[in-house]
Amino acid sequence: AYSAFFFFFFFFFFVFWVMMIISRAGSTSLQLLPPNLLDLRVDPTSTAAASADYGNVAKPPPPAAVLFPASVDDIAALVRASFASDDPFPVAARGHGHSIRGQASAPRGVVVDMHSLAAGSNTAKRINVSSSDDYFYADVGGEQLWIDILKATLEHGLTPTSWTDYLYLTVGGTLSNGGISGQVHRRGPQISNVYEMDVVTGKGEVVTCSKGHNSDLFHAVLGGLGQFGVITRARIALERAPHRARWVRLMYEDFSAFTRDQEYLISVGEGDKEGFDYLEGSLISDESLLNNWRSSFFSKTDHARIRSLTTTHGLFYCLELSKYYDQTTLPHTIDQEVSSWLEGLSFIPGLVFSKDVTYVEFLNRVHSGELKLRAEGLWDVPHPWLNLFVPKSKIHDFDAGVFRRILRHNSSTSTGPVLVYPMKLNKWDAQMSTAVPDEEVFYTIGLLRSAATVEDLEYQEKENREILRFCETDCTGFKQYLPHYETKEDWEKHFGNKWDKFVEMKTKYDPKAILSPGQKIFSTST
Ligand code: FAD
Repeated sequence: AYSAFFFFFFFFFFVFWVMMIISRAGSTSLQLLPPNLLDLRVDPTSTAAASADYGNVAKPPPPAAVLFPASVDDIAALVRASFASDDPFPVAARGHGHSIRGQASAPRGVVVDMHSLAAGSNTAKRINVSSSDDYFYADVGGEQLWIDILKATLEHGLTPTSWTDYLYLTVGGTLSNGGISGQVHRRGPQISNVYEMDVVTGKGEVVTCSKGHNSDLFHAVLGGLGQFGVITRARIALERAPHRARWVRLMYEDFSAFTRDQEYLISVGEGDKEGFDYLEGSLISDESLLNNWRSSFFSKTDHARIRSLTTTHGLFYCLELSKYYDQTTLPHTIDQEVSSWLEGLSFIPGLVFSKDVTYVEFLNRVHSGELKLRAEGLWDVPHPWLNLFVPKSKIHDFDAGVFRRILRHNSSTSTGPVLVYPMKLNKWDAQMSTAVPDEEVFYTIGLLRSAATVEDLEYQEKENREILRFCETDCTGFKQYLPHYETKEDWEKHFGNKWDKFVEMKTKYDPKAILSPGQKIFSTST
């Protein structure tokens, strides 16, 4: 009876104290915080940092406080305190803050700084690699950056199977969206390569889920935009790591030839070692050849060669491939293998560019671009990115309407890569939350542009709106990836036939709509 009394006493004291913090947002001082309970900070530096993101476009109001959790229990206690209250406060997990439009913010609520879980002596404990026979996996904290997982797994000769282009993103952040890159045609998105997770639900319960256990939560959380729980651990699939990558780029003038070759290349090698391990593509204009982080692939001579050729519409399409191999493979064997794949493709004769790099250099390729942009002060500018999934049946309309009409390929208004590559629907699990087009093959389009001035930002935002309007009428069935909508109706339309399930799972696992309010899907309710 005494222990029950003390439990309830401390629990209600904790709820009362958190409510005090929230209700006194703005004027709260550090003196209010009881020492040694939770590391909850209210100073303007912490709250301002927690509301900023990579997009640098949305500028949401700051949270009332930032939690720096020392353990998963800290996160559960915070969410329980909100859930128990008659006036629940929003809570958002913040991974690496690489959202574009304030998705990891919690205006007037509490942002959970996930990195703090791995601080100090916890670091080593939060990536655990297991290998027995041919079953390889790693249990990783939701706060872990993929680059750190790569380093840790390589020590065991292993590697995660599916990637994003950029590795300084957290497990929780990418699994809340999908996690895509050029490996998707073989391995599926990152969400298709997860065996199990620990999740703190919107009721503050810590639940383990997998395909066989609490499967509704497992499926809802993957691609669930942080709406059903905070991912604190994920068990991710690993495979034996290759050592090197043969990295090839091919230039096209003709969009039909470009997409035909892309679609052919993703259709071969299903389930075996044949074919390329990575396939992407991008739009190349004079501007993007000079001003984007991906152009560092080309030497100065390559630039000159490409620019000396003119196309009828001033654009090239670049097909990008990579084939992994290990130390035992002889150089001429990989040469032959890659050459045999290139035979029969319809790229512009002679416009083949190739590099041989280590596996890590290949996976971490965007980081060198980041360092370059940081040095030029161009990394922290606004990024009004737009990411779309366009059905294969509409991709030619998209090329004509967007790449060749709406986009003004002009260095004074627009810099950054424009990605375009196909994926296969059968690599996505329909039970998971991510909304994708209902066609066997669909394209991902990534308009990953930076705006150095206010005018650039306005111009790009205007173009983005125009592209979305175009898609509504001419690319029916398209979906936004890393979606951003303001109204419930738009979200309902976005999720389509997944919406009812999405709402059912929200009601079950976060009935007071406490979690990830920055996505603007549900509003906090009592
Ligand atoms: P945050 O921005 O911190 O959070 C994103 C959302 O997830 C928020 O709603 C947040 O509340 C929620 N969230 C965060 N952590 C958790 C958690 N542990 N549990 C539950 N919810 C959580 N995406 C791709 O798929 N492929 C790419 O190649 C790719 N490249 C990118 C390159 C750059 C430079 C940038 C800026 C983004 C890129 N993205 C890419 C997009 C990126 O995957 C998403 O924006 C992702 O959400 C960012 O991860 P984060 O850790 O920064 O998440």
